[in-house]
Amino acid sequence: MLTCKQFDEFMMDYLEGNLPFWQKVSCGLHLRMCRKCAKFVDQYRRVVLLEKDALLPSADSIPEAVPEELVNAALAYRQQNLGGD
Ligand SMILES: [Zn+2]
Repeated sequence: MLTCKQFDEFMMDYLEGNLPFWQKVSCGLHLRMCRKCAKFVDQYRRVVLLEKDALLPSADSIPEAVPEELVNAALAYRQQNLGGD
């Protein structure tokens, strides 16, 4: 029986199907015994699937906050283009 720490080390390979048979079995067993890791894997899968489905940019390419000046500039630009004729 794997410990959570051991499972954690195998998890990426487990999810990608890269483990040898006996390790796969060990991980599968751990997931049945350990709600914590099962939940983690479940959440991980959801995030990966969501990212693949939506083709979201990775988190580090999204700025944490859009600068207010940029927002104002964008709004001003839009108003000019909508209002002007
Ligand atoms: Zn565990």
